[in-house]
Amino acid sequence: MPEPLIHFAVPFASLYMVGVRSRMVLAASVFALLPDLDVLLNVHKSITHSILLLFLASFITYSLLRKKYGELILICSLGFASHLLLDLFSGYTPILWPLWDRSVWISIGLNAQFGNPFILAPKADILTAPISFEPFQHLDAEVITSEGIMISLILLGPTILLFLKKYVSQHKNSRSLEMIRSPDS
Ligand SMILES: [Zn+2]
Repeated sequence: MPEPLIHFAVPFASLYMVGVRSRMVLAASVFALLPDLDVLLNVHKSITHSILLLFLASFITYSLLRKKYGELILICSLGFASHLLLDLFSGYTPILWPLWDRSVWISIGLNAQFGNPFILAPKADILTAPISFEPFQHLDAEVITSEGIMISLILLGPTILLFLKKYVSQHKNSRSLEMIRSPDS
């Protein structure tokens, strides 16, 4: 499973880059962390990792609250879905529960053998396994890794710099407007 920082950084960078407002981006990135809260109940990759339940929950909340929070609900649902997609490509995930009682892992890769002969071996497998929501006794998970920190910094760094640049220029503009309106101050 990708570590929490990567789950946060991926929607943060991608949503900000396509022009979503920063508060929405932050909310979506926090929502991207929620599926793994199931570990607090000693179960990992539980029903919180079902995209069908996410659709259902999003549909219900959107139908009830769309006038006031419609955009926020859609963006947060995207953030949540990004977690499920990252998990789907890194390990078994009960993505279609309860319609399908099997966890799915889409495993894509390319192996290269350098030497003579030079061999490239692409692989693309859709693996499935029975879903088990049995509570675990221990869960060994790499919550922070050096690789994850570097990927997250690369994703978050430019986005945070852009955000700060925008914030500073907005602040400057509002200061200039204030000075124009009250030149004596
Ligand atoms: Zn997860």
